[in-house]
Amino acid sequence: MYYLYKSNAVHKELPVIEAGLIVGEFDLGTKEIFPNESISLSFVCSNTGQCCSVLQIPISDKDILKIEAQDYTLDQIVGIQSPVLKLPKYEISGIEKYYWLKKKAFSKTCRFLSDDNRCEIYEFRPLGCRIFPFSIKHLTSERVQIRIHPTNICKSVKYSEEPQNEEILGYVLDTYSKDLEEKVAYFSKFGDEI
Ligand code: SF4
Repeated sequence: MYYLYKSNAVHKELPVIEAGLIVGEFDLGTKEIFPNESISLSFVCSNTGQCCSVLQIPISDKDILKIEAQDYTLDQIVGIQSPVLKLPKYEISGIEKYYWLKKKAFSKTCRFLSDDNRCEIYEFRPLGCRIFPFSIKHLTSERVQIRIHPTNICKSVKYSEEPQNEEILGYVLDTYSKDLEEKVAYFSKFGDEI
């Protein structure tokens, strides 16, 4: 099990990280991780809530079901104008649908972000929230590349003399694997009827 957000890593004033920078890769089958040896990164979330105030977060049927179980209605979870989003290439099922998480009225801010920058559904937040400021790119069905998120709005991930590349990759691997397990459970329960 890997944990982030608890490091005492010291950040130096170094160049700003560019969007899409490759942190490394992992193998979903063997659970091996392959850090990018040419960079040294650390990440300590500073809880600004900025990501929750700017990003569009995709949510799947499975995510919606989990949040609905916390006494939220569908209308409170899914943005009214949400289209069904294009499926990622390597999803486990061709029928899985994605939508946009709902925003506050007349705002770019997620409707689940409280006034004191807390996530009201922290335990049940979607994958995109869990792995930000990193993004996932499948190279094959098993081999996955982890990059700095294309928006590059998070300034808490930095070049560092105390690298956390392995922890970052391990954390994303753990988180993504758990999400895939939940999807398998979802589809074995609901099948292709949903
Ligand atoms: S669900 Fe939670 S973590 Fe995700 S954007 Fe909304 S407030 Fe932020």
